Amino acid sequence: MEAYKQVTRKSHPHDTVVQVRGVSIGDGSFTVIAGPCAVESREQLFATAQAVREAGATVLRGDAFKPRTSPYAFQGLKEEGLQLLAEAREAFDMPFVAEVLEPGDVELVASYADIIRVGTRNMSNYSLLQELGRSDKAVMLKRGFTATIDDWLTAAEYVYNEGNNNIILVERGIRTFETATRNTLDISAVPVVKQRSHLPVIVDPSHSGGHKYLVGPLAKAGLVVGAAGMMVDVHPNPSEAKVDGAQALLPEDFITLMGELQTLASATGVEVS
Ligand code: PEP
Ligand code: MN
Repeated sequence: MEAYKQVTRKSHPHDTVVQVRGVSIGDGSFTVIAGPCAVESREQLFATAQAVREAGATVLRGDAFKPRTSPYAFQGLKEEGLQLLAEAREAFDMPFVAEVLEPGDVELVASYADIIRVGTRNMSNYSLLQELGRSDKAVMLKRGFTATIDDWLTAAEYVYNEGNNNIILVERGIRTFETATRNTLDISAVPVVKQRSHLPVIVDPSHSGGHKYLVGPLAKAGLVVGAAGMMVDVHPNPSEAKVDGAQALLPEDFITLMGELQTLASATGVEVS
């Protein structure tokens, strides 16, 4: 028995293009998703959203529910965070993606977000995947940090099999013996997924590298290997960030990276959008 039948290219040779409020992910362009790891305040969210929008990002990221390794760490602003994200969407004309942690919160997150994300820790939470499969919102599925590519595609099959075909895969790094990086961005996963599946795959150079200096090199590698886009953490004041400050780009670093990506994109015939 094959573990996945519908997300495979064998059953569907053409690329799936996920459309979200006028943004197309998987159409051959490189979609830029950026914003803070967590929503901390209106000021922080709006300053970041404005900066990334002006620099060319088309989708906003920001979380209201944070899966933290420690129970004592900041867990997110919950519904208030989703409300702020919805206000930022209107103010800056960009759809947003936010994480959901449990099946019981899917309805709440879906009532605000344009794309609902499953984080690395929840990739194998099959009841959460099925609940999202019954939602009409696009789903972003991160690779589990100990998952093989086939485990990840099988998790996507859980969503697809419930009727939701709008799935974006995210390579966000896997656990290896290496300690210099938070996780190892598996750059080969991009062409492997593109060969095995019709679903779009993007990279997360922030959560994989875990350090600001690695974000640009990993993002550029993602573009060159054919990723459908990237998702990057940006914060106006990373040293004060409540979550993941070490990997957040300042708005000015993000502007520099966007310029570098434009140069690479024109050399490879890809459009950055
Ligand atoms: C995130 O994108 O904020 C996040 C928590 O990522 P991951 O699930 O990949 O750790
Ligand atoms: Mn984070």
